[in-house]
Parts: sequence; C-alpha cells; structure tokens
Amino acid sequence: MAHVLLPREILPADGRFGCGPSKIAPAHLQALAGPGSALLGTSHRQAPVKDLVGQVRAELSQLFRLPHGYEVILGNGGSTAFWDAAAFGLIEKRSQNLVFGEFGGKFAAAAKTPWLEAPDVRKADPGTSTVAEAVEGVDVYAWPHNETSTGVSTPITRVNGDEGALTVIDATSAAGGIDFSVHQADVYYFAPQKNLGSDGGLWFALVSPAAIERIERIAASGRYIPEFLSLKNALDNSRLNQTLNTPALATLFLLDKQLDWILSSGGLQWADARTRESSRALYEWAEASEFATPFVADAADRSPVVVTIDFDASVDAAAVAKSLRANGIVDTEPYRKLGRNQLRIATFVSIDPDDVRQLIRCIDYTLERLG
Ligand SMILES: *Cc1c(COP(=O)(O)O)cnc(C)c1O
Repeated sequence: MAHVLLPREILPADGRFGCGPSKIAPAHLQALAGPGSALLGTSHRQAPVKDLVGQVRAELSQLFRLPHGYEVILGNGGSTAFWDAAAFGLIEKRSQNLVFGEFGGKFAAAAKTPWLEAPDVRKADPGTSTVAEAVEGVDVYAWPHNETSTGVSTPITRVNGDEGALTVIDATSAAGGIDFSVHQADVYYFAPQKNLGSDGGLWFALVSPAAIERIERIAASGRYIPEFLSLKNALDNSRLNQTLNTPALATLFLLDKQLDWILSSGGLQWADARTRESSRALYEWAEASEFATPFVADAADRSPVVVTIDFDASVDAAAVAKSLRANGIVDTEPYRKLGRNQLRIATFVSIDPDDVRQLIRCIDYTLERLG
C-alpha cells in the first residue's frame, strides 16, 4: 500500500518513538564524538573511565535519592544478564514473579533453575496488572515497574513477607521516568537504553543493605556461581568503580550525559511530570477518538512512559506504522508477540512533549488519508 506523505509542518523534530533502544539526545551523541572521543579507546582500568563510572554511580544515587546504606552496582550484559545473576546470587530458595507481559515472564523463566524451588508465578492478562501476595517461603518478590511489552505500570510497594524477604523491581523502561520511593524496594535494576537515553550492554542496580547482605551470604554459601554472573563480584568491582570485564564505554558516556541533563532540569519529579504530559496527550487523544482506545483499560495501570493504543477493525495499525515509518517516524509498531492491532509509543523523558503532539497530528493525518 502506498504511504501517506506527511506535510513538513506537522512532523516532529525527532521521529524516534521506539521503546528501546530509544531516542538518544542528539547533543549527547555530538558530545560522544567531541569530548567523548578522548575517552573511547582508552583503558577501563585507568582514571578517566573509573572516574566516569564513579560519576554515573553518584548521579544515580542523587537522582533516586538513595537512603543511607544503599549502593549502586553495575555489570555487563543488560537486564537479561541480571535475571540470571539474580537466579544465581539473589534468590535464596524461591521467588514470586508477577507476570503481565513478556519481560516479567522472562525473569520468571530465569528463576526456574535446578537449585531453586519452582517460582510462585502470578499471571495476569496483558494490559492488566496484578499485585504481590506475601507467601511463606518466598524470599524474593519480583515484578516490573513498567511492563514495556504492554504499557502497564505498577506501584512500587514493599512486600511484607517472611523476615528478610526482598522486593526486586525491573525498572529497565521506568528508571528515571517515573517517580517513586526507593525505600519501597531492595533492588531496583535497569539497563540504560530506554528512558535513560543511552545505549545497551550494561545493567545497573540500586541495592539496599538487606540485598547486599543477601548477595554476600549466598556468595559465601558454596553455591556454584559463574564469575560473569556473580553479584558479589559486581558489588566488589562496583565499589572500585569498575566491572569484571570491559564495559561499554559509549553507554557509560551517554548515560552520564542523560543523568546530568535530568538532574539539572529538576530530577525525578521533573522527569515524571514530563513523561506524564506526553503520555496524557496520547491517552486523551485515544479516548476522544472514534477508532482508537487505550489498550490498558484501567487508567490507574496506564504507563506514563510506554503508551499502547488499540485500533478498531476499520483501521490497519500496521499500515499506519508503516506509513509513519516512510516519513521518518519510526518504531511505533506494537510489541511483536502481543499480536494486536495497535501502536506502541514511547514517551520517555528524552522525547519532547511537543514532538508527541506533532505525532498525534501525523497519526490523524494518516488515518484520514489511509481510509
Ligand atoms: C528491554 C527490557 C528488558 C531487557 O533489557 P536488555 O538490556 O535488553 O536485556 C528487561 N526488562 C524490561 C522491563 C525491558 O523493557
């Protein structure tokens, strides 16, 4: 099908609306090619890179207002590696995993191992959420702050289960875009290629004193843990502002720029207000539209950072996404395995609310002309 040519005056300044890897601020990319070029290609065991790691750790502590005793740790392999690391070194006997989309499901799958009891998996249909329930014998309660595959976000509230049980939150797409109280979590982990506007390859985790104690106890227990997936190793190296093996230097550089930008703009509260402004524009548009409805029925579950919009049978959402793409507006397709007649739009902090309003004009224009 021929695509609709969009008039220039309604185009967003930046056409990247994907949920990850997501838009990186052009100024940060320019800085990478400028001052960053003195850093790339230099040793990660020398002061310039270690100082950068230290700065990123300090900025994350500041952004998330870390309470005394919490630490920022990091390692290689992104959030997917963190799931395996958690199965080896954070879950003592059994986890409870809330699953209401792909990413929660992937952690639940990683928690099925020969050395752990089968996880207590609590499933809810895509587009809805569910809450943790204290269960005897569960020592890790795990769920995503924002389920990127469906656009559902959940409140972060500590689970008062067995003594010492940990609340472990996947914040890969939420971190730095949704305000919350880190006191309510023991582990808040993420990779920086989504709301944090950097590139992939690393994971970061904010860990409470109870989580640190757990990591150290399991590491000392004699359980087999591969070196690359050892949280104890990550903890020890992070305290020295380094990683076990070579980190992605460009990812660290771009993350530092993004954190500096968010902090100097007003921090987490400011970022939260900005993502809510962008997402509200889309939800209000969908609610008022004849053909569109927010996929997430309960307004309280609707994510401020990932907006999913269903279309009725009169609209071919895939054709809309394809037509937008031909105009340089990319990655509005839904999560591939969800299989819905849907657009999924990131409203991360890097994305300008004005660009979201322009995108809405582009969608309207396309809908009128695709017929
Ligand atoms: C993207 C994503 C992941 C996977 O992150 P990787 O760094 O690619 O492993 C995990 N959880 C959530 C919520 C995500 O959005």
